[in-house]
Parts: sequence; structure tokens; C-alpha cells
Amino acid sequence: MNVLVINCGSSSLKYQLINSDSEEVLAKGLCERIGIDGRLVYQKAGCDKETTEAPMPTHKEAIQMVLDALVNEKTGAIASLAEVNAVGHRIVHGGEKFASSAVITDEMMAAVAECNDLAPLHNPANLIGINACKELMPDVPMVGVFDTAFHQTMPAKAYLYGLPYEYYEKYKVRRYGFHGTSHSFVSKHAAEFLGLDINHSKIIVCHLGNGASISAVKDGKCVDTSMGLTPLEGLVMGTRSGDIDPAIMEFLAKKENLDIAGVMNVLNKKSGVYGLSKELSSDFRDLEEGMNSGNEYAANALEVFCYRVAKYVGSYVAALNGVDAIAFTAGIGENAGIVREKVCEHFGYLGIKLDAEANSKRGEDMVISTPDSNVKVAVIPTNEELAICRETVALV
Ligand code: ADP
Repeated sequence: MNVLVINCGSSSLKYQLINSDSEEVLAKGLCERIGIDGRLVYQKAGCDKETTEAPMPTHKEAIQMVLDALVNEKTGAIASLAEVNAVGHRIVHGGEKFASSAVITDEMMAAVAECNDLAPLHNPANLIGINACKELMPDVPMVGVFDTAFHQTMPAKAYLYGLPYEYYEKYKVRRYGFHGTSHSFVSKHAAEFLGLDINHSKIIVCHLGNGASISAVKDGKCVDTSMGLTPLEGLVMGTRSGDIDPAIMEFLAKKENLDIAGVMNVLNKKSGVYGLSKELSSDFRDLEEGMNSGNEYAANALEVFCYRVAKYVGSYVAALNGVDAIAFTAGIGENAGIVREKVCEHFGYLGIKLDAEANSKRGEDMVISTPDSNVKVAVIPTNEELAICRETVALV
């Protein structure tokens, strides 16, 4: 069957049409600047990208344009919309209500809306996308796949913060974690690829992209993860600070005369390796280039990033009481050998040995530890769209 995978942001929408039998991507692209002016990028498999500027006042027009492009006589990937058999929607926050993907119904959507408080920028956009698809394809079954669901197996000792318990009871303030679709996909695939029995395995997944998070996965279930109530916690990221002393917020607010929104803006958009590199870039390609040409701020940013990853890996070795495999994924994890090297340097005591030549390659699934390494280290490219497609097929 063909599954349309939709990932709606507040002013953008990414999509892929996937044949679930062959797992081939038939077409993919994105809509940008929804509600501003509107631009559709469409790419049929094996063809060049096409870009069309057209007004998209809401997500409904954007999705209509995607559907029109998919069935376009000349460049379409399918002959008619009857060939879209299901839609899989990425939903950011499922709170404690969703520990797995769910078929989209009115009750399910009401439960998602109850989680809006927890992700005020993302969940409403996800719901708008679902509503638009329901209007345009009323008879097609749809499934919601949550970023938070995989992490719902964490025990209370991992998800509770050291705050008054009433905030958990009243507002559900706790660790949720994100990138769950990727952590689930990569941990399963790593076990398979490395010949481990997932039901008896200890795997640490480092999802290092612009947003970055780590998870500890025991016997196929998440037991801890670095992002928290929101994606701001944990690693130093592209532009997000990750963990800081919470008292810095008041200190900076006073010094810089900022309100809460102003401080949050700094922590989300001006920090991370971008802020550390004095705004050189949030992109690791630029930072590596900067470091190689002697930019000390870029070099520091890289060091801080890698050191934080290593500290989290170390703490998850403790959480798991051991580790069988470490898997690196996402833009940085898949491509930046230097990051993998700097992280693994901290684990000589565990008997981790990297194969420098394997680590210098990029692309496919690959083992980058030596045969005599006590812990297997691998690069496993993530594929969140394929994971959403598989979840959707399983439920419809
Ligand atoms: P997201 O989905 O969070 O936007 P990605 O997983 O696509 O992030 O990762 C994007 C990041 O990956 C870029 O910002 C860049 O830092 C890094 N990246 C991509 N390609 C390379 C590369 N060839 N070498 C080093 N870093 C890379």
C-alpha cells in the first residue's frame, strides 16, 4: 500500500509518499512559508526537484497542493488519490496519554489537544494538518505517531524532576523526551544489524542532528533520555543550550533586562554551538572548517558539544549497568567522524576501540569499532518517515 507521511510544523509541512511493500519513496518534498506567501517543493523519485511559489494561507491549501502535485498528469507519482491508502502523521507530544501510535479518531484528537499545553508551538500545527487531511481525504485511514511515545517506558526515577511533586500531579511536569521515532527505529535496527538480541540488549542511541538527544534502551525499551518536558534539555545543540544551571535564567534576565520570553529565545535560538562559536554557525560543516582554519570559538564549540555527549553516554552506561552497543545517527551522528571519535575517546576504560578507517567513511549502516572492541559502535542512518510509514501500516 501507499502511505503519505506528513510532518506539520507551524509554517511548514514535510511529506513523503512511500510504498510500504517495497519501502520505496515515490515522491517527497515540503511546503514552506504557509500563512506567509507559500512555496511547494516536490520531487518524484528519480527526477529533479520542482519548486512552485503559490499562496498557501493555511495548511489546507498546502496539503491540497501536495495532493495535486502527487497526481499531476506529467510529474505525478500516482494516477489518482485512490492510490493513497493511508496517512501517517507525526505528532510531537502525546504526554502520558500515548505510549504508542494510535489510529486517528475524534476521541484521539481530543486527547492530543489536551497535550497542547506541553507543546504549544507544535501540537496545534500537527492537529491543523490532521484536520486538513481529513477534509481533503475523508475516507482514508490515518494514524498519529508520537515523538514522545517510545520514551513512555521510562521508570519514574528517570522521568521525575526534583521539583515539588504537586507540579507533576497538577501539570504533568516531568521528562517526556523527543525524537522517539528515531530512537525506536535506530535501536531496533542497530540490534538487527549488529546481531544482538533486542530483548537482551543494552543500547545507547545518540541522535545528533540540529536538535540532539540520547537515549538508553534496555531490552528494546527506553529507560532514560536526555530531552525533558521540552526539547531544550540535555545536549548542547545547534542553537539550544541544553542543560544549564537554572539560576542562569534569573541572572541573565536581570543583566540583559529580558523577560521570560526573551530568556527562552536566547536559550532556544541563540545558544548551543551557534552561540558558543560567536554566531559563526550552527552547522557542523562550518564549525569543522572554522576549527581547521584556526577559529578558537568554533573549536571550543565542538569540544563542548562532544564532551556533553560523552558525559551523557557515560551516565547511560550507569543507567543500563553496562552497554552492548552505541549507535550514532542523524545529520551529525551520521556524518561527523570527528564527533564520534571525540566521544568514544572517553570510553577507553570500557574497552571501546574505534576503527579509524571505518569511522572516516559515511553513508550506510556501518560498524566503526574494531572486532576486538568490548562494545560495538555503529553508524545507523535514521529514517523517521519510514518508521512512521511502518507504524501506520501496522495500525491500519
Ligand atoms: P534536524 O532534522 O534536527 O534539522 P539533521 O539530522 O538533518 O537535523 O542534522 C542537520 C545537521 O547535521 C546540520 O546542521 C549539520 O550540523 C550536520 N551535518 C549534516 N551534514 C554534515 C556533514 N557532511 N558533516 C558534518 N555535519 C553535517
